[in-house]
Amino acid sequence: MPTPTHAFAAHAADKPLAPFDFERRDPRPDDVSIEILYCGVCHSDLHFAQDDWGMSSFPVVPGHEIVGRVTAVGPDVKNHAEGDLVGVGCMVDSCRSCSACEDGLEQYCLEGMTMTYGSPDRHDETLTQGGYSTFVVVSDRFVVKMPDGIDLKSAAPLLCAGITTYSPLKHYGVKAGDKVGVIGMGGLGHMGVKLAQAMGAEVTLFTRSESKVAEAKSNGADHVVISTDEEQMKAVAETFDFMLDTIPVPHDVNPYLAALKYDGTHILVGLLEPLDPPVAGMNLVFKRRVLAGSLIGGMPETQEMLNFCAEHGITCDVEMIDADYINDAFKRMQDGDVRYRFVIDMQSLKNKAA
Ligand code: NDP
Repeated sequence: MPTPTHAFAAHAADKPLAPFDFERRDPRPDDVSIEILYCGVCHSDLHFAQDDWGMSSFPVVPGHEIVGRVTAVGPDVKNHAEGDLVGVGCMVDSCRSCSACEDGLEQYCLEGMTMTYGSPDRHDETLTQGGYSTFVVVSDRFVVKMPDGIDLKSAAPLLCAGITTYSPLKHYGVKAGDKVGVIGMGGLGHMGVKLAQAMGAEVTLFTRSESKVAEAKSNGADHVVISTDEEQMKAVAETFDFMLDTIPVPHDVNPYLAALKYDGTHILVGLLEPLDPPVAGMNLVFKRRVLAGSLIGGMPETQEMLNFCAEHGITCDVEMIDADYINDAFKRMQDGDVRYRFVIDMQSLKNKAA
């Protein structure tokens, strides 16, 4: 039976989010049915609700940092059982048979991954809807286990902010002793600081915000550079092995490239739009530097990241909100006024609906 579900949805790019009732699909044999407990608020949700990337369909229920409890499983489900505490991140399906999917890199599926919201479902073409909602139905392969004892509220953002920073740090080979710069301390950036520190790197936060210096250090940053201060930027020229760039808007990457050693790697995770101003070829060619990108992480790596976080006692710094605060939360996120992730307590939506 389809399940009536309460949610908050964006109904148009220029309208605030508003309550939205819809039905989740009748579960398929490999589906896990999940009562949502918490959902983080990612800057991508805001990009999508505002149609910043020109790919949004409305109405859309954002939310891809989902933690919940399994209420039922289909007969083909192998990895989860009723009562389990589980997570769902940014994708809910892929072709499952291409080389990327076979490598557990479903986010790079050659046919394109099915995103948690705003993607056509591969079976019935309905648009997927995300986690600002009371209930979700997701195929077994795209559901991860929450480690025992982890604080669920502050672990919810690991499902996107955590994996998006963990995956490139691992893939590009960050190791103990490397000098890593993390650019921007929001949801992703503060996780980048914590994870790089746990991997043994010497971590420097680049921020525009003097007010974040002390928090960056308590989150594990060894140093902080105020990125708007030219003298501070000059002082760190050619010192870094890696830069993890989480800035969500076009910005000049040239000063950050100049801060990399030869063979250093600048990893973009925040920006999907064209680079503006352009990158000076000289900043790459003369030092054999690499300009790279990275998209979330695959399903095996997402589980690995959750386990790594549990082992190292890492969660996100969160501010809990009720669902009907979401428009204020979006505004505050746009203004850089969040430390460091809003998380919706879905009980607030269930109470309103009761
Ligand atoms: P937040 O809004 O939480 O944080 C972004 C941070 O970037 C801010 O806190 C601020 O840090 C800095 N910043 C913001 N605006 C500017 C600006 N104009 N110039 C310089 N710095 C700025 O966003 P998230 O961390 O949630 O997301 C960051 C980006 O990553 C978004 O674009 C999101 O869509 C993208 N993303 C990418 C994914 C991927 O797979 N590649 C997955 C998930 C998200 P400070 O005050 O310290 O300067």
